[in-house]
Amino acid sequence: MRRRYTCDIVVVGAGPAGLSAAQAAAEKDLDVVVVDANSHPGGQYYMQPLSAGSAFSRSAQVRRGKIQARSARAAGVTMLLATEVWGAFPGFVLHAQDPDGAVCIESKAVIVATGAHDRVQAFPGWTLPGVMTPGAAQRLAKTSGVLPGRRTVLAGSGPFLLPVAGAILKAGGRLVEVVEAQSSFLPTLPLLAIHPDKWPETLRLLFPILAARIRFRFGEVVVAASGEERVREVELAPLDADGQPDLAGRRIVSDIDSLLVGFGFQPQTELTAVLGCRHHFDEEAGGWCCTVESDCGATDTSGVFAAGEVCGVSGAVPAVLSGRIAGLAAAGQILEEETVFERRTLSRRLQRARRFARGLNHRFTPPPGLAGLLPDETVVCRCEDVTAGEIRKEITGGMDTVHGVKLWTRAGMGPCQARICGWSLARLIAEETGNSMKETGFSRPRMPLRPVPLNIVRDSSL
Ligand SMILES: Cc1cc2nc3c(=O)[nH]c(=O)nc-3n(C[C@H](O)[C@H](O)[C@H](O)COP(=O)(O)OP(=O)(O)OC[C@H]3O[C@@H](n4cnc5c(N)ncnc54)[C@H](O)[C@@H]3O)c2cc1C
Repeated sequence: MRRRYTCDIVVVGAGPAGLSAAQAAAEKDLDVVVVDANSHPGGQYYMQPLSAGSAFSRSAQVRRGKIQARSARAAGVTMLLATEVWGAFPGFVLHAQDPDGAVCIESKAVIVATGAHDRVQAFPGWTLPGVMTPGAAQRLAKTSGVLPGRRTVLAGSGPFLLPVAGAILKAGGRLVEVVEAQSSFLPTLPLLAIHPDKWPETLRLLFPILAARIRFRFGEVVVAASGEERVREVELAPLDADGQPDLAGRRIVSDIDSLLVGFGFQPQTELTAVLGCRHHFDEEAGGWCCTVESDCGATDTSGVFAAGEVCGVSGAVPAVLSGRIAGLAAAGQILEEETVFERRTLSRRLQRARRFARGLNHRFTPPPGLAGLLPDETVVCRCEDVTAGEIRKEITGGMDTVHGVKLWTRAGMGPCQARICGWSLARLIAEETGNSMKETGFSRPRMPLRPVPLNIVRDSSL
Protein backbone atom coordinates (compact mmCIF):
# COMPACT_ATOMS: atom_id res chain seq x y z
CA MET A 1 0.00 0.00 0.00
CA ARG A 2 1.51 3.31 -1.05
CA ARG A 3 1.76 6.07 1.58
CA ARG A 4 1.69 9.65 0.36
CA TYR A 5 3.16 12.70 2.08
CA THR A 6 2.66 16.29 1.01
CA CYS A 7 4.94 19.04 2.29
CA ASP A 8 6.53 22.37 1.37
CA ILE A 9 10.10 21.10 1.16
CA VAL A 10 11.53 17.60 0.98
CA VAL A 11 15.17 17.14 1.94
CA VAL A 12 16.90 13.97 0.77
CA GLY A 13 19.68 13.02 3.18
CA ALA A 14 19.78 13.36 6.96
CA GLY A 15 23.52 14.01 7.18
CA PRO A 16 25.06 17.26 8.45
CA ALA A 17 23.89 19.14 5.33
CA GLY A 18 20.36 17.74 5.17
CA LEU A 19 19.61 18.16 8.89
CA SER A 20 20.89 21.72 8.85
CA ALA A 21 18.89 22.56 5.68
CA ALA A 22 15.71 21.03 7.09
CA GLN A 23 16.01 22.87 10.40
CA ALA A 24 16.64 26.23 8.70
CA ALA A 25 13.54 25.80 6.51
CA ALA A 26 11.33 24.48 9.34
CA GLU A 27 12.31 27.48 11.52
CA LYS A 28 10.54 29.57 8.87
CA ASP A 29 7.32 27.68 9.74
CA LEU A 30 7.35 25.55 6.62
CA ASP A 31 6.31 21.92 6.46
CA VAL A 32 9.57 20.01 5.94
CA VAL A 33 10.14 16.27 5.44
CA VAL A 34 13.61 14.67 5.56
CA VAL A 35 14.14 11.28 3.95
CA ASP A 36 17.13 9.05 4.61
CA ALA A 37 18.02 5.49 3.68
CA ASN A 38 19.63 4.88 7.08
CA SER A 39 17.62 3.94 10.14
CA HIS A 40 19.21 6.76 12.19
CA PRO A 41 19.78 10.38 11.16
CA GLY A 42 23.37 11.68 10.99
CA GLY A 43 24.73 10.66 7.57
CA GLN A 44 28.39 9.71 7.45
CA TYR A 45 29.97 12.22 9.79
CA TYR A 46 27.39 11.95 12.60
CA MET A 47 26.97 8.19 12.06
CA GLN A 48 24.92 6.73 14.94
CA PRO A 49 25.53 3.28 16.49
CA LEU A 50 22.51 0.95 16.32
CA SER A 51 22.76 0.03 20.01
CA ALA A 52 23.21 2.40 22.97
CA GLY A 53 25.91 0.23 24.58
CA SER A 54 28.31 0.56 21.61
CA ALA A 55 31.94 1.63 22.14
CA PHE A 56 31.16 4.58 19.83
CA SER A 57 28.04 5.85 21.66
CA ARG A 58 29.83 8.53 23.62
CA SER A 59 31.99 10.03 20.85
CA ALA A 60 31.71 13.77 20.23
CA GLN A 61 30.50 13.14 16.66
CA VAL A 62 27.66 10.88 17.82
CA ARG A 63 26.63 13.43 20.48
CA ARG A 64 26.68 16.30 17.99
CA GLY A 65 24.61 14.25 15.55
CA LYS A 66 22.00 13.55 18.23
CA ILE A 67 21.83 17.27 19.08
CA GLN A 68 21.47 18.27 15.42
CA ALA A 69 18.70 15.69 14.83
CA ARG A 70 16.91 16.75 18.03
CA SER A 71 17.06 20.43 17.02
CA ALA A 72 15.64 19.61 13.58
CA ARG A 73 12.77 17.64 15.13
CA ALA A 74 12.15 20.43 17.65
CA ALA A 75 11.84 22.86 14.74
CA GLY A 76 9.02 20.64 13.40
CA VAL A 77 10.87 18.53 10.80
CA THR A 78 9.28 15.14 9.97
CA MET A 79 11.85 12.38 9.44
CA LEU A 80 11.23 9.37 7.23
CA LEU A 81 14.10 7.03 8.07
CA ALA A 82 15.05 3.66 6.54
CA THR A 83 13.46 5.19 3.45
CA GLU A 84 15.38 5.06 0.19
CA VAL A 85 14.57 7.42 -2.67
CA TRP A 86 14.72 5.64 -6.02
CA GLY A 87 13.05 8.11 -8.33
CA ALA A 88 12.16 11.77 -8.79
CA PHE A 89 9.86 13.58 -11.17
CA PRO A 90 9.39 17.29 -11.87
CA GLY A 91 6.68 18.94 -9.91
CA PHE A 92 8.02 17.53 -7.44
CA VAL A 93 7.20 13.90 -6.77
CA LEU A 94 9.75 11.67 -5.11
CA HIS A 95 9.36 7.90 -4.99
CA ALA A 96 10.92 5.89 -2.19
CA GLN A 97 10.64 2.60 -0.35
CA ASP A 98 10.75 1.79 3.33
CA PRO A 99 10.43 -1.61 5.05
CA ASP A 100 6.60 -1.37 4.76
CA GLY A 101 6.49 -0.62 1.04
CA ALA A 102 6.12 2.30 -1.34
CA VAL A 103 6.32 5.92 -0.18
CA CYS A 104 5.56 8.95 -2.31
CA ILE A 105 6.39 12.53 -1.29
CA GLU A 106 5.03 15.59 -3.05
CA SER A 107 6.63 18.97 -2.38
CA LYS A 108 7.05 22.50 -3.72
CA ALA A 109 10.86 22.34 -3.51
CA VAL A 110 13.56 19.70 -3.10
CA ILE A 111 16.88 19.98 -1.30
CA VAL A 112 19.29 17.23 -2.33
CA ALA A 113 21.82 16.47 0.42
CA THR A 114 22.84 12.95 -0.57
CA GLY A 115 26.51 13.35 0.36
CA ALA A 116 29.30 11.30 -1.16
CA HIS A 117 30.45 7.69 -1.41
CA ASP A 118 33.76 5.83 -1.50
CA ARG A 119 35.84 6.17 -4.65
CA VAL A 120 36.71 2.66 -5.77
CA GLN A 121 39.48 1.45 -8.09
CA ALA A 122 39.05 -2.10 -9.44
CA PHE A 123 42.04 -4.48 -9.29
CA PRO A 124 42.42 -8.24 -9.79
CA GLY A 125 40.79 -9.90 -6.78
CA TRP A 126 38.66 -6.91 -5.74
CA THR A 127 35.47 -8.99 -5.89
CA LEU A 128 36.75 -11.58 -3.36
CA PRO A 129 34.89 -11.89 -0.04
CA GLY A 130 36.76 -9.85 2.57
CA VAL A 131 37.61 -7.02 0.16
CA MET A 132 35.53 -3.91 0.79
CA THR A 133 35.70 -0.14 0.89
CA PRO A 134 36.99 1.70 3.97
CA GLY A 135 33.58 3.41 4.22
CA ALA A 136 31.74 0.09 4.38
CA ALA A 137 34.11 -1.21 7.06
CA GLN A 138 33.74 1.99 9.09
CA ARG A 139 29.94 1.75 8.96
CA LEU A 140 30.02 -1.92 10.05
CA ALA A 141 32.34 -1.12 12.96
CA LYS A 142 30.67 2.11 14.10
CA THR A 143 27.02 1.15 13.76
CA SER A 144 27.14 -2.53 14.74
CA GLY A 145 30.57 -3.23 16.25
CA VAL A 146 31.20 -5.73 13.43
CA LEU A 147 34.76 -6.03 12.10
CA PRO A 148 35.63 -6.56 8.42
CA GLY A 149 37.93 -9.43 9.50
CA ARG A 150 40.53 -10.39 12.06
CA ARG A 151 43.66 -9.30 10.16
CA THR A 152 43.09 -6.30 7.96
CA VAL A 153 45.18 -4.30 5.49
CA LEU A 154 43.84 -0.78 4.96
CA ALA A 155 45.07 0.92 1.77
CA GLY A 156 44.38 3.72 -0.69
CA SER A 157 44.85 7.40 -0.21
CA GLY A 158 43.54 10.30 1.82
CA PRO A 159 42.93 11.44 5.38
CA PHE A 160 39.86 9.17 5.60
CA LEU A 161 42.20 6.21 6.20
CA LEU A 162 42.84 7.66 9.68
CA PRO A 163 39.27 7.57 11.09
CA VAL A 164 38.74 4.15 9.50
CA ALA A 165 41.90 2.81 11.18
CA GLY A 166 40.71 4.37 14.45
CA ALA A 167 37.25 2.77 14.15
CA ILE A 168 38.69 -0.69 13.48
CA LEU A 169 41.05 -0.44 16.44
CA LYS A 170 38.28 0.83 18.71
CA ALA A 171 36.02 -2.08 17.68
CA GLY A 172 38.83 -4.47 18.70
CA GLY A 173 40.21 -5.25 15.23
CA ARG A 174 43.82 -5.83 14.18
CA LEU A 175 45.42 -3.76 11.43
CA VAL A 176 48.37 -5.49 9.78
CA GLU A 177 49.35 -2.35 7.84
CA VAL A 178 47.98 0.99 6.70
CA VAL A 179 49.23 1.79 3.19
CA GLU A 180 49.00 5.38 1.90
CA ALA A 181 49.73 6.01 -1.80
CA GLN A 182 51.26 9.45 -1.18
CA SER A 183 54.94 9.47 -0.25
CA SER A 184 54.33 11.03 3.18
CA PHE A 185 51.99 13.19 5.25
CA LEU A 186 54.57 16.03 5.24
CA PRO A 187 52.90 18.05 2.43
CA THR A 188 49.85 18.47 4.69
CA LEU A 189 51.89 20.28 7.37
CA PRO A 190 51.88 23.74 5.71
CA LEU A 191 48.12 23.42 5.28
CA LEU A 192 47.63 22.46 8.92
CA ALA A 193 49.92 25.32 9.95
CA ILE A 194 47.47 27.87 8.55
CA HIS A 195 44.41 26.05 9.95
CA PRO A 196 45.12 25.66 13.70
CA ASP A 197 41.42 24.88 14.27
CA LYS A 198 42.14 21.48 12.66
CA TRP A 199 44.96 20.51 15.07
CA PRO A 200 42.78 18.93 17.79
CA GLU A 201 40.95 16.73 15.26
CA THR A 202 44.23 15.71 13.58
CA LEU A 203 45.74 14.69 16.93
CA ARG A 204 42.55 12.86 17.90
CA LEU A 205 42.72 10.85 14.65
CA LEU A 206 46.46 10.11 14.89
CA PHE A 207 46.63 9.24 18.58
CA PRO A 208 45.00 5.74 18.56
CA ILE A 209 47.05 4.71 15.51
CA LEU A 210 50.34 5.85 17.03
CA ALA A 211 49.43 4.36 20.41
CA ALA A 212 48.71 0.98 18.78
CA ARG A 213 52.04 1.24 16.85
CA ILE A 214 50.36 0.40 13.57
CA ARG A 215 52.79 -0.02 10.69
CA PHE A 216 52.32 2.82 8.16
CA ARG A 217 53.71 2.35 4.63
CA PHE A 218 53.84 5.27 2.20
CA GLY A 219 54.13 5.48 -1.60
CA GLU A 220 52.56 2.09 -2.38
CA VAL A 221 49.31 0.92 -3.96
CA VAL A 222 47.34 -2.32 -4.09
CA VAL A 223 47.76 -4.01 -7.49
CA ALA A 224 46.13 -7.39 -6.78
CA ALA A 225 44.54 -9.55 -4.12
CA SER A 226 44.15 -13.30 -4.00
CA GLY A 227 42.63 -16.11 -1.99
CA GLU A 228 40.23 -18.97 -2.57
CA GLU A 229 37.09 -18.56 -0.51
CA ARG A 230 38.26 -15.24 0.89
CA VAL A 231 41.07 -12.75 0.44
CA ARG A 232 44.32 -14.13 1.90
CA GLU A 233 47.08 -12.09 0.23
CA VAL A 234 47.53 -8.63 -1.15
CA GLU A 235 50.16 -7.46 -3.64
CA LEU A 236 51.45 -3.92 -3.23
CA ALA A 237 53.65 -2.00 -5.66
CA PRO A 238 55.72 1.12 -4.98
CA LEU A 239 55.02 4.24 -7.03
CA ASP A 240 57.87 5.46 -9.23
CA ALA A 241 59.01 9.09 -9.66
CA ASP A 242 56.09 9.73 -12.11
CA GLY A 243 53.60 8.33 -9.60
CA GLN A 244 53.10 5.15 -11.68
CA PRO A 245 53.07 1.70 -10.01
CA ASP A 246 56.43 -0.07 -10.44
CA LEU A 247 55.51 -3.75 -10.74
CA ALA A 248 59.15 -4.86 -10.50
CA GLY A 249 59.19 -3.72 -6.86
CA ARG A 250 56.06 -5.64 -5.82
CA ARG A 251 55.75 -7.18 -2.36
CA ILE A 252 53.12 -9.50 -0.89
CA VAL A 253 51.41 -9.29 2.49
CA SER A 254 50.02 -12.73 3.43
CA ASP A 255 47.81 -14.20 6.12
CA ILE A 256 45.11 -11.53 5.99
CA ASP A 257 41.34 -12.00 5.92
CA SER A 258 40.22 -8.51 4.98
CA LEU A 259 41.42 -5.78 2.67
CA LEU A 260 39.98 -2.26 2.59
CA VAL A 261 40.85 -0.06 -0.37
CA GLY A 262 39.57 3.43 -1.16
CA PHE A 263 40.76 6.66 -2.75
CA GLY A 264 38.68 9.25 -0.92
CA PHE A 265 35.13 10.09 -1.94
CA GLN A 266 33.06 11.19 -4.90
CA PRO A 267 29.79 13.15 -4.79
CA GLN A 268 26.58 11.06 -4.87
CA THR A 269 24.86 12.76 -7.78
CA GLU A 270 22.23 10.28 -9.05
CA LEU A 271 19.30 12.27 -7.71
CA THR A 272 20.49 15.65 -8.95
CA ALA A 273 21.14 13.97 -12.31
CA VAL A 274 17.58 12.59 -12.67
CA LEU A 275 16.23 15.98 -11.58
CA GLY A 276 18.03 17.42 -14.61
CA CYS A 277 20.55 19.58 -12.72
CA ARG A 278 23.80 20.67 -14.32
CA HIS A 279 27.04 19.08 -13.10
CA HIS A 280 30.68 20.10 -13.46
CA PHE A 281 33.96 18.25 -13.11
CA ASP A 282 36.21 19.30 -10.24
CA GLU A 283 39.12 16.97 -9.49
CA GLU A 284 39.79 18.54 -6.09
CA ALA A 285 36.17 18.11 -5.04
CA GLY A 286 35.97 14.40 -5.92
CA GLY A 287 34.98 14.47 -9.61
CA TRP A 288 31.50 15.29 -10.99
CA CYS A 289 29.67 17.66 -8.63
CA CYS A 290 26.20 19.20 -8.75
CA THR A 291 26.56 22.83 -9.82
CA VAL A 292 24.94 25.34 -7.45
CA GLU A 293 24.99 29.07 -6.82
CA SER A 294 27.27 29.20 -3.79
CA ASP A 295 25.31 31.89 -1.95
CA CYS A 296 21.97 30.04 -2.07
CA GLY A 297 22.50 26.40 -3.10
CA ALA A 298 20.12 26.77 -6.08
CA THR A 299 20.73 24.39 -8.98
CA ASP A 300 19.75 25.29 -12.54
CA THR A 301 16.53 23.24 -12.16
CA SER A 302 13.96 25.60 -10.71
CA GLY A 303 12.92 24.57 -7.18
CA VAL A 304 15.83 22.15 -6.72
CA PHE A 305 18.55 23.08 -4.23
CA ALA A 306 21.62 21.05 -3.27
CA ALA A 307 23.88 21.14 -0.23
CA GLY A 308 26.80 19.30 1.31
CA GLU A 309 29.05 16.85 -0.47
CA VAL A 310 26.79 16.25 -3.47
CA CYS A 311 28.16 19.68 -4.52
CA GLY A 312 31.79 18.64 -3.86
CA VAL A 313 33.65 16.70 -1.18
CA SER A 314 34.61 19.16 1.51
CA GLY A 315 33.84 17.79 4.99
CA ALA A 316 31.24 18.23 7.69
CA VAL A 317 31.66 21.93 8.53
CA PRO A 318 31.01 23.13 4.96
CA ALA A 319 28.14 20.60 4.77
CA VAL A 320 26.40 22.18 7.78
CA LEU A 321 26.93 25.71 6.45
CA SER A 322 25.83 24.94 2.89
CA GLY A 323 22.80 23.08 4.29
CA ARG A 324 21.67 26.10 6.28
CA ILE A 325 22.18 28.34 3.24
CA ALA A 326 20.10 26.04 0.99
CA GLY A 327 17.37 25.66 3.66
CA LEU A 328 17.03 29.43 4.05
CA ALA A 329 17.08 30.03 0.31
CA ALA A 330 14.48 27.33 -0.45
CA ALA A 331 12.22 28.67 2.32
CA GLY A 332 12.73 32.22 1.07
CA GLN A 333 11.67 31.19 -2.44
CA ILE A 334 8.44 29.54 -1.23
CA LEU A 335 7.55 32.36 1.19
CA GLU A 336 8.70 35.04 -1.27
CA GLU A 337 10.80 36.41 1.56
CA GLU A 338 14.33 37.83 1.31
CA THR A 339 16.94 35.75 3.21
CA VAL A 340 20.06 37.24 1.66
CA PHE A 341 21.26 38.96 4.86
CA GLU A 342 21.05 35.73 6.87
CA ARG A 343 22.91 33.87 4.11
CA ARG A 344 25.68 36.42 3.55
CA THR A 345 27.72 35.65 6.69
CA LEU A 346 27.17 31.91 6.24
CA SER A 347 28.50 32.13 2.65
CA ARG A 348 31.68 33.84 3.83
CA ARG A 349 32.24 31.16 6.47
CA LEU A 350 31.52 28.46 3.87
CA GLN A 351 34.19 29.72 1.49
CA ARG A 352 36.78 29.75 4.28
CA ALA A 353 35.84 26.24 5.44
CA ARG A 354 36.03 24.85 1.90
CA ARG A 355 39.60 26.12 1.43
CA PHE A 356 40.99 23.58 3.90
CA ALA A 357 39.17 20.67 2.25
CA ARG A 358 40.33 21.67 -1.23
CA GLY A 359 43.91 21.86 0.05
CA LEU A 360 43.63 18.36 1.51
CA ASN A 361 42.01 16.87 -1.59
CA HIS A 362 44.75 18.43 -3.73
CA ARG A 363 47.43 16.66 -1.67
CA PHE A 364 45.72 13.26 -1.88
CA THR A 365 44.81 12.96 -5.55
CA PRO A 366 44.71 9.28 -6.53
CA PRO A 367 47.82 8.06 -8.42
CA PRO A 368 47.49 7.56 -12.19
CA GLY A 369 48.21 4.31 -14.01
CA LEU A 370 46.18 1.88 -11.90
CA ALA A 371 43.38 1.33 -14.42
CA GLY A 372 45.83 0.81 -17.27
CA LEU A 373 47.34 -2.13 -15.33
CA LEU A 374 44.06 -4.04 -15.18
CA PRO A 375 44.34 -7.46 -16.88
CA ASP A 376 41.68 -8.00 -19.56
CA GLU A 377 39.91 -10.69 -17.52
CA THR A 378 39.34 -8.47 -14.44
CA VAL A 379 35.69 -7.58 -13.91
CA VAL A 380 35.20 -3.80 -13.73
CA CYS A 381 31.37 -3.57 -13.60
CA ARG A 382 30.37 -6.29 -11.17
CA CYS A 383 26.59 -5.70 -11.51
CA GLU A 384 26.65 -6.42 -15.25
CA ASP A 385 29.78 -8.62 -15.25
CA VAL A 386 31.76 -6.48 -17.72
CA THR A 387 35.51 -7.07 -17.88
CA ALA A 388 38.36 -4.64 -18.59
CA GLY A 389 38.95 -6.54 -21.87
CA GLU A 390 35.36 -5.95 -23.05
CA ILE A 391 35.69 -2.26 -22.23
CA ARG A 392 39.06 -2.03 -24.04
CA LYS A 393 37.49 -3.66 -27.13
CA GLU A 394 34.92 -0.85 -27.34
CA ILE A 395 37.60 1.78 -26.76
CA THR A 396 39.62 0.31 -29.62
CA GLY A 397 36.41 0.42 -31.66
CA GLY A 398 36.21 4.20 -31.15
CA MET A 399 34.23 4.71 -27.90
CA ASP A 400 36.01 7.32 -25.79
CA THR A 401 33.32 8.37 -23.28
CA VAL A 402 31.68 6.71 -20.29
CA HIS A 403 28.31 7.07 -22.00
CA GLY A 404 29.52 5.41 -25.22
CA VAL A 405 31.17 2.48 -23.46
CA LYS A 406 28.09 2.06 -21.25
CA LEU A 407 25.81 1.80 -24.30
CA TRP A 408 27.90 -0.93 -25.90
CA THR A 409 28.89 -2.97 -22.83
CA ARG A 410 26.22 -2.18 -20.17
CA ALA A 411 29.04 -1.20 -17.76
CA GLY A 412 27.44 1.08 -15.14
CA MET A 413 23.85 0.13 -16.09
CA GLY A 414 23.24 -2.34 -13.25
CA PRO A 415 21.61 -1.95 -9.84
CA CYS A 416 24.42 0.26 -8.45
CA GLN A 417 24.05 2.69 -11.38
CA ALA A 418 27.88 3.08 -11.55
CA ARG A 419 28.33 4.10 -7.90
CA ILE A 420 30.87 1.27 -7.54
CA CYS A 421 32.40 0.91 -11.01
CA GLY A 422 31.95 4.44 -12.42
CA TRP A 423 35.31 5.79 -11.36
CA SER A 424 37.30 2.70 -12.51
CA LEU A 425 35.46 2.79 -15.82
CA ALA A 426 36.21 6.47 -16.39
CA ARG A 427 39.86 5.99 -15.36
CA LEU A 428 40.25 3.05 -17.75
CA ILE A 429 38.84 5.08 -20.64
CA ALA A 430 41.01 8.08 -19.71
CA GLU A 431 44.18 6.03 -19.44
CA GLU A 432 43.57 4.08 -22.67
CA THR A 433 42.60 7.13 -24.76
CA GLY A 434 44.76 9.82 -23.19
CA ASN A 435 41.62 11.91 -22.57
CA SER A 436 41.10 13.75 -19.28
CA MET A 437 38.57 12.45 -16.75
CA LYS A 438 36.41 15.44 -17.63
CA GLU A 439 36.46 14.47 -21.31
CA THR A 440 35.33 10.91 -20.52
CA GLY A 441 32.09 12.52 -19.34
CA PHE A 442 29.33 12.15 -16.77
CA SER A 443 27.60 8.76 -16.34
CA ARG A 444 23.90 9.62 -16.30
CA PRO A 445 21.97 7.23 -14.03
CA ARG A 446 18.46 5.98 -14.78
CA MET A 447 15.55 5.22 -12.45
CA PRO A 448 15.19 3.16 -10.35
CA LEU A 449 18.26 4.69 -8.70
CA ARG A 450 18.31 1.90 -6.12
CA PRO A 451 17.19 -1.72 -6.50
CA VAL A 452 13.46 -1.94 -5.69
CA PRO A 453 11.01 -4.86 -5.62
CA LEU A 454 8.63 -4.86 -8.58
CA ASN A 455 5.53 -4.54 -6.33
CA ILE A 456 6.88 -1.18 -5.11
CA VAL A 457 7.01 0.16 -8.66
CA ARG A 458 3.41 -1.07 -9.15
CA ASP A 459 2.25 0.50 -5.84
CA SER A 460 3.87 3.79 -6.85
CA SER A 461 1.26 4.01 -9.68
CA LEU A 462 3.87 4.89 -12.28
C1 LIG B 1 31.59 6.40 3.66
C2 LIG B 1 31.96 7.74 4.22
C3 LIG B 1 32.47 7.85 5.51
C4 LIG B 1 32.85 9.09 6.04
N1 LIG B 1 33.39 9.17 7.30
C5 LIG B 1 33.89 10.34 7.73
C6 LIG B 1 34.56 10.44 8.99
O1 LIG B 1 34.72 9.47 9.69
N2 LIG B 1 35.06 11.66 9.36
C7 LIG B 1 34.92 12.75 8.57
O2 LIG B 1 35.39 13.83 8.92
N3 LIG B 1 34.25 12.69 7.39
C8 LIG B 1 33.77 11.52 6.96
N4 LIG B 1 33.15 11.45 5.74
C9 LIG B 1 32.95 12.67 4.99
C10 LIG B 1 31.49 13.06 5.31
O3 LIG B 1 30.68 12.56 4.29
C11 LIG B 1 31.20 14.53 5.38
O4 LIG B 1 32.10 15.16 6.19
C12 LIG B 1 29.76 14.83 5.82
O5 LIG B 1 29.12 13.75 6.45
C13 LIG B 1 29.03 15.24 4.59
O6 LIG B 1 27.74 15.58 4.96
P1 LIG B 1 26.54 15.48 3.92
O7 LIG B 1 25.34 15.86 4.71
O8 LIG B 1 26.88 16.24 2.70
O9 LIG B 1 26.46 13.94 3.50
P2 LIG B 1 26.32 12.61 4.32
O10 LIG B 1 26.75 12.75 5.71
O11 LIG B 1 26.99 11.58 3.48
O12 LIG B 1 24.74 12.34 4.32
C14 LIG B 1 24.07 12.00 3.15
C15 LIG B 1 22.86 11.18 3.53
O13 LIG B 1 22.05 11.02 2.37
C16 LIG B 1 21.45 9.75 2.42
N5 LIG B 1 21.08 9.35 1.05
C17 LIG B 1 21.85 9.36 -0.06
N6 LIG B 1 21.14 8.95 -1.12
C18 LIG B 1 19.89 8.66 -0.66
C19 LIG B 1 18.71 8.16 -1.28
N7 LIG B 1 18.67 7.89 -2.60
N8 LIG B 1 17.62 7.95 -0.51
C20 LIG B 1 17.64 8.24 0.84
N9 LIG B 1 18.74 8.70 1.46
C21 LIG B 1 19.86 8.91 0.72
C22 LIG B 1 22.53 8.85 3.00
O14 LIG B 1 21.95 7.70 3.60
C23 LIG B 1 23.19 9.78 4.02
O15 LIG B 1 22.70 9.57 5.32
C24 LIG B 1 32.71 10.23 5.24
C25 LIG B 1 32.18 10.12 3.94
C26 LIG B 1 31.79 8.90 3.44
C27 LIG B 1 31.25 8.80 2.05
